[in-house]
Amino acid sequence: MENILEIKDLKISFDTFSGEVQAVRGVNLTLKKGETLAIVGESGSGKSVTSKAVMKLIPQPPGKYKSGEILFEGKDLIKYSERDMHKIRGSEISMIFQDPMTALNPTMTIGAQIAEGLRKHQKMNKQEANERVVKLLDLVGIPNPEARLKQYPHQFSGGMRQRVVIAIALACNPKILIADEPTTALDVTIQAQILELMKDLQDKMSTSIILITHDLGVVANMAQRVAVMYGGRIVETGSVDEIFYKPKHPYTWGLLSSMPKLHNNSEKLLAIPGTPPDLSNPPKGCPFAPRCPYAMKACVDMMPDYTNLSDTHQTACWLLDDRAPKVEPPETIGV
Ligand code: SF4
Ligand code: MG
Repeated sequence: MENILEIKDLKISFDTFSGEVQAVRGVNLTLKKGETLAIVGESGSGKSVTSKAVMKLIPQPPGKYKSGEILFEGKDLIKYSERDMHKIRGSEISMIFQDPMTALNPTMTIGAQIAEGLRKHQKMNKQEANERVVKLLDLVGIPNPEARLKQYPHQFSGGMRQRVVIAIALACNPKILIADEPTTALDVTIQAQILELMKDLQDKMSTSIILITHDLGVVANMAQRVAVMYGGRIVETGSVDEIFYKPKHPYTWGLLSSMPKLHNNSEKLLAIPGTPPDLSNPPKGCPFAPRCPYAMKACVDMMPDYTNLSDTHQTACWLLDDRAPKVEPPETIGV
């Protein structure tokens, strides 16, 4: 499959009172046409910053693109002007934010908000846009679309609002859809419906999706590939099967251990002890070393390189070095 997006050695920092925070520290990622790539990790791992960077939504200042490339269909978005990005955002690449309440404008009707992108990017007149809005509302499963498009966000339930947000994101048939925790604000039943809807729409429109989440259940259900982020770096990337059944990085082991088990409801959630690294003064070695039960001297001194375990599976951990002791993953992982 062809790559629609290639992120190469991306580094992003923020100037803060406590110094320069290196939020993204050399990220490499690819997204193929029509696939769903999940980015997982704790908050502060750099996953949201990486995805916002693709939309060029990092505020500058305090943010700074320090280095790297974000190649969309081969062209580097980092070099794009704000004006060029206006044409791309919402039409070629769009984003679903986690909180549908803040994503919508309370003073505009739903219809007008969905039509906005259509009129701007596709130069539709009012009537054409309205017809398309009705189709989109229908597509995302909002009953009685002709009447609903004249209503305001407060007249919709949380789940319905998130459907509207998805309709806005998909209005111009984007090639890439970025969904940052798209269902966290919703209850479990609605969550499942929204995810089903996204999958459905992807089938129909062959959109490529970047899904940011901390929920590994969602990953298993939605994604074909997974990138695990920690301390501004990708520590492991692989197909869903490789990550769930053959994980090689101790941080991935920790994430999988902390996942609620399907067959054992009583089991306590194992949190990973410790806190993420301070990225205003990042460790020079492996970012996970202070929390890793297997950390060796090399881990503290040197950043581990990526080891290729298959065409799709890469892990950055010193345990994969020939000279390291052999370590088995803990038994707590797995579904
Ligand atoms: Fe743990 Fe070392 Fe691997 Fe980092 S490189 S995850 S500290 S074993
Ligand atoms: Mg986030």
